[in-house]
Amino acid sequence: MRDITLCHPRLQKLIAQLTSECANAGLPIKIGESFRSVTEQDALYAQGRTQPGSIVTNARGSSYSSQHQWGIAADFYRADGKGAYNESGDYFKKVGELAKKLGLGWGGDWKSIVDKPHVY
Ligand SMILES: [Zn+2]
Repeated sequence: MRDITLCHPRLQKLIAQLTSECANAGLPIKIGESFRSVTEQDALYAQGRTQPGSIVTNARGSSYSSQHQWGIAADFYRADGKGAYNESGDYFKKVGELAKKLGLGWGGDWKSIVDKPHVY
């Protein structure tokens, strides 16, 4: 789901700040996914397990263990026309650094499943 207004107000504010700081730094981003329902999270959990694809999350929908289900996380993507998930130029890392300066956490720092487009 892409409706950022379903997220925590503090996150909404930080995401707006991050988006404008990234634009200023020449690293335009857009927000792809933020709030997820149990059904949406379960579908994602099935990917790479009972469904084709590679595993992208360890959080089962029914356990409410994904930050996306609590409205406290958002996934961004690259918006400079060079490919939404093109990592060239350390794009995601640079956005992650800007996010951390604002006090957000960055999924790229995770150890189990590294989630570079994820901020919380
Ligand atoms: Zn995420």
